[in-house]
Amino acid sequence: MAHVCIHWFRKGLRLHDNPALIAALKDCKELYPVFIMDPNLHSSEVGISRWRFLIGALKDLDSSLRKLNSRLFVLRGKPEEVFPKLFSKWKVTKLTYEYDTEPYSLSRDEKVTSLAKETGIDVIYKISHTLYNIERIIEENDGKPPLTYKRLQAIVAKLGPPEKPIPAPTLDDMKDVKTPCSEKDEKKYGIPTLEEFGLDSTSLGEELFPGGEQEALRRLDEHMKKTGWVCSFEKPQTSPNSLNPSTTVLSPYVTFGCLSARTFWWRLTEVYRGKKHSDPPVSLHGQLLWREFFYTCSLGIPNFNKMKGNTVCTQVDWDTNQDYLAAWREARTGFPFIDAIMTQLRQEGWIHHLARHAVACFLTRGDLWISWEEGQKVFEELLLDGDWALNAGNWQWLSASAFFHQFFRVYSPIAFGKKTDKNGDYIKKYLPLLKKFPPQYIYEPWKAPRSVQQAAGCIVGKDYPHPIVQHEQVSKKNVQRMKEAYARRSTASSESPIKKQGEKRKSLSVVDMLQKKARKE
Ligand code: FAD
Repeated sequence: MAHVCIHWFRKGLRLHDNPALIAALKDCKELYPVFIMDPNLHSSEVGISRWRFLIGALKDLDSSLRKLNSRLFVLRGKPEEVFPKLFSKWKVTKLTYEYDTEPYSLSRDEKVTSLAKETGIDVIYKISHTLYNIERIIEENDGKPPLTYKRLQAIVAKLGPPEKPIPAPTLDDMKDVKTPCSEKDEKKYGIPTLEEFGLDSTSLGEELFPGGEQEALRRLDEHMKKTGWVCSFEKPQTSPNSLNPSTTVLSPYVTFGCLSARTFWWRLTEVYRGKKHSDPPVSLHGQLLWREFFYTCSLGIPNFNKMKGNTVCTQVDWDTNQDYLAAWREARTGFPFIDAIMTQLRQEGWIHHLARHAVACFLTRGDLWISWEEGQKVFEELLLDGDWALNAGNWQWLSASAFFHQFFRVYSPIAFGKKTDKNGDYIKKYLPLLKKFPPQYIYEPWKAPRSVQQAAGCIVGKDYPHPIVQHEQVSKKNVQRMKEAYARRSTASSESPIKKQGEKRKSLSVVDMLQKKARKE
């Protein structure tokens, strides 16, 4: 039977290594590539830069599909309300999509899958957002997510290398496939604009990282040409405050699926072949495994993006302090290194991993004693690469709530940045009002004599804030509070009948559900 098929793009905004799209083309006479602007996503805190990235990625996808004599249909609404109409309007017989493990996506996909099956539509999903089927990793670990990177490495070593990516469909693959569309559809299903969402594009800065598969592959090529750099890459040796990114900035592309993680992995393998190279956890392969690690935890640990009800997360008595939170978010803590990073984040939508370390530690256990969940929300809004699993996992790490337990190691908001940027050039770039401070005061302008402040044209307390906390004092007090939280945790876990180190999964995932159904049919 020749199918009328919808391929549903959500993440996975690409043609290369898209096994669900290839499955859509099998025995297909009509193909409708669809993206649904979900009001749920819209109402959540997604900043304007991320919207711009998404719109760019959709335009790029549409243009690539048009080269295959197809196009992208963008619809607005809730997927469970939009699909039934499309199913009957287009007389759909097959639905394909990429498997997505975010809790919101799992419940959305469960609803849409049920609706499709009720109408007799074949549903095919494929795993291609992660290197591995992360359910398999959990299975291999006795039904629990591995809670250390070493454990994850041991399991993936057993599973062997990730599957090889598959090529994008060609005109030849599309020769018997049509995408019916009329002049009227052009407008009706067009790519939205920022203005349509009531967003003011004039507030945006320069677009340093444009969305889309073409740009992702171009960036990947550019980096893979630097053989020596790739082979010697060690994450801790990269710099949080270099003026040009010292890591790949492929994260937004991997998050939206403009770049397949497996394509990234195998391109690295090719570069490494026959050469001496760095290894996980610090190598670029190692970075992709960190992604896998947090994805696996996020699927296997209930309430992964929260402190309460999250069995691996230390329960900490964080303060609520709206003034501190706003000062951190709005880059007015009075610590130039922290404020420069938060300015870069707001303007450019990307900051280096160690810069994320610095501001996350400062907000939580280091200085302000504010919950990591608050930081997570701000990152979710402002990062182009905002990713549910990676954001939650890394915030737990940095706040020493889970995975990392050396809470007595606190980043100094003054000394840390100096290690890689003595002159403070990064601060000068993002906080130009401090640019005339001499290097010895740029990280601590409040220490500069009045005459130096006057000569720099910036008076602390008037033009730039005083530090909101005394780092030396609060960090010592916070280490003590953290010690107490850990002591409460060990008492609680020794009283608990089960050691709460990751639970066996109870609820059925979409994969389980579909597998169960398939076994019955
Ligand atoms: P590279 O060093 O070039 O690494 C290549 C790829 O590996 C990245 O694109 C990314 O996909 C993956 N990767 C690298 N580091 C990590 C890591 N620590 N954990 C998981 N995957 C990693 N990353 C996100 O993609 N989305 C987030 O929402 C996010 N939130 C974070 C929050 C905090 C508090 C911290 C400390 C880190 C967070 N990270 C997040 C992880 C990491 O900082 C970024 O992935 C990385 O800096 C992206 O830059 P890059 O592409 O140049 O990385």
